[in-house]
Amino acid sequence: MAVETVNTLVIGAGQAGIATSAHLAQRGVPHLVLERARIAERWRSERWESLVANGPAWHDRFPGQEFEGLDPDAFAGKEQVAAYFEAFAAKINAPVRCGVEVVALHRTAAGFRAETRDGVIEAAQVVVATGPFQKPLIPDMVPARAGLMQLHSSAYKAPGQLPAGAVLVVGAGSSGAQIAEELQRSGRQVFLSVGPHDRPPRRYRGQDFVWWLGKLGKWDAKAKEPGTEHVTIAVSGAYGGQTMDFRRLAAQGVVLLGRANGFADGAVTVNGDLAQNIARGDANYLSVLDEADAYAAAHGLSLPEEPSARVFAPLPGCVTQPRLSLDLAAEGVTSIVWATGYALDYGWIKIDAFDAQGRPLHREGVAQVPGLYFVGLPWLSCRGSAFIWGAWRDAERLAAHIAARVPAHA
Ligand SMILES: Cc1cc2nc3c(=O)[nH]c(=O)nc-3n(C[C@H](O)[C@H](O)[C@H](O)COP(=O)(O)OP(=O)(O)OC[C@H]3O[C@@H](n4cnc5c(N)ncnc54)[C@H](O)[C@@H]3O)c2cc1C
Repeated sequence: MAVETVNTLVIGAGQAGIATSAHLAQRGVPHLVLERARIAERWRSERWESLVANGPAWHDRFPGQEFEGLDPDAFAGKEQVAAYFEAFAAKINAPVRCGVEVVALHRTAAGFRAETRDGVIEAAQVVVATGPFQKPLIPDMVPARAGLMQLHSSAYKAPGQLPAGAVLVVGAGSSGAQIAEELQRSGRQVFLSVGPHDRPPRRYRGQDFVWWLGKLGKWDAKAKEPGTEHVTIAVSGAYGGQTMDFRRLAAQGVVLLGRANGFADGAVTVNGDLAQNIARGDANYLSVLDEADAYAAAHGLSLPEEPSARVFAPLPGCVTQPRLSLDLAAEGVTSIVWATGYALDYGWIKIDAFDAQGRPLHREGVAQVPGLYFVGLPWLSCRGSAFIWGAWRDAERLAAHIAARVPAHA
């Protein structure tokens, strides 16, 4: 089999791989990017059709490259995001080879050996940019004999894909909450299982949430606050950008349920934690307003006050008298969308570079194994790391690290 040699190999051509290529090129590091499908494939085929970016176009982008023809305050559609990365890669002439999957990565005396179906590539450095959300997770809860259509949020495309009938959406982070709302607006009866979540305001005092995160220094936070490790975040750019408000969803007809915990006698059972989860989300929302007010006062910002942002509608009946189970047949539920997150899947990396849970051992993306790097992972160096501009920043730092090694291997 042919063996090709390259100084640095980048695996994956999503935003993190493209950003890495840009920074390596800027430092004159010879490299190749391998992508098993197409540039930004996950934005193309693993997101629902109506998805728009969670942040406005002025924010969710690479610095120095705007979304052409898009109002900076608008939220780019997923196809626009994919086209943006494709255009950027073309502009910088990124050396991306599409349709080539790395099926195994080994360590060698001189560096690394990547096996693909097209041949072997040897490299002194490897940057793994295969995504923060690799393997869809569906809990082993509702058996196939229940006879429903069950799919993960990464396979959900549009309401018409589901059989006629009511839908249970499990998980109320950004994906689950948005999918539930889309299904409800399409005329479906929707049940939404809501676990612990944060739900920051979309805008406050005239500024977007992402602007406030920047002002409050939260994008640069190094780690999640203790106790929030398993808390999901519900934000949305859909319908022009709205705060994810579960009272509003309930008023529109979505039936809220606590966290799903099992299946018995044709019913999905749920925890009695719904009111607590809603209260926790409210507290998070209010804490952002408090911090924003304190910042505005301390810095003398003349932003319009917004007391109405603190007024909540009464809790809906589904929260005050929560159900503890959902009889699927009796409620006409014919499908379940599991918006239950993702796991890492690095089984193809045959290198001792992971902890017992399969997480890479690294310091801000620099692996313990010399010459190996990870980019694009949540909290790689800070809160922003899995977001478009955050991956750009991490890639810049990692490219500098690689450039410093290059003379030794050139
Ligand atoms: C529903 C959803 C909405 C999101 N919305 C936003 C948002 O609005 N704004 C934002 O900043 N972030 C958002 N994110 C987070 C993040 O930006 C995306 O997940 C983004 O796709 C991550 O980019 P990436 O380059 O790190 O990884 P990916 O986009 O996952 O790219 C990895 C690439 O590697 C390829 N690949 C994988 N394995 C191999 C292999 N073995 N060999 C070769 N190629 C391989 C894949 O085909 C893929 O193209 C969202 C995430 C989700 C799930």
